[in-house]
Amino acid sequence: MKSEEIIRKFKETEALLEGHFVLTSGLHSDVYLQCALVLQHPREAEAIGRDIADRFRRENIQTVASPAIGGLIIGHEVARALGARFIWTERENGQMVLRRGFSVSPGERMLVVEDVVTTGGSTRETIATLQDSGANIIAAASIIDRSSGKASVGVPRIALATLDVLSVEPAVCEACKRGEPAVKPGSRKK
Ligand SMILES: [Zn+2]
Repeated sequence: MKSEEIIRKFKETEALLEGHFVLTSGLHSDVYLQCALVLQHPREAEAIGRDIADRFRRENIQTVASPAIGGLIIGHEVARALGARFIWTERENGQMVLRRGFSVSPGERMLVVEDVVTTGGSTRETIATLQDSGANIIAAASIIDRSSGKASVGVPRIALATLDVLSVEPAVCEACKRGEPAVKPGSRKK
């Protein structure tokens, strides 16, 4: 799938909205991204997962790992497409940890998958947790990179589509200055 096709799928399912938004962080943005709205369709999730998997067919990936909750669906689909195992990390007292009896073998070849990379923070934390357990992290991947390619996670990283998203403090927001009302998308009823 081409980058444009991914973006089109996101727009069709309203997982990607353009306008004037208040993000959870309180910042204002001209783009709102909610990957769950495309991933709620298993057929789309499967196709996107296969697309990420295709980039790693020759890497002999044994296990795919994702940070919960955002990475769960897409990570699982990538693992399915690769015939690999799938596990996840989750937060416990602020720390990203492996729970539920999941374990990693020394040298295990792993791919870390997220839905969207913004700063790369949760991917980095997941990689560190797995490396502490002895894993060999081959690469990281996401559906969307909203860092314009800038986020660094310490291993090779790919994304199916890259966005250049502007998030600003309300005080300096151009749309606010034009008097356009800002929308909080999560609260919208359908
Ligand atoms: Zn604004």
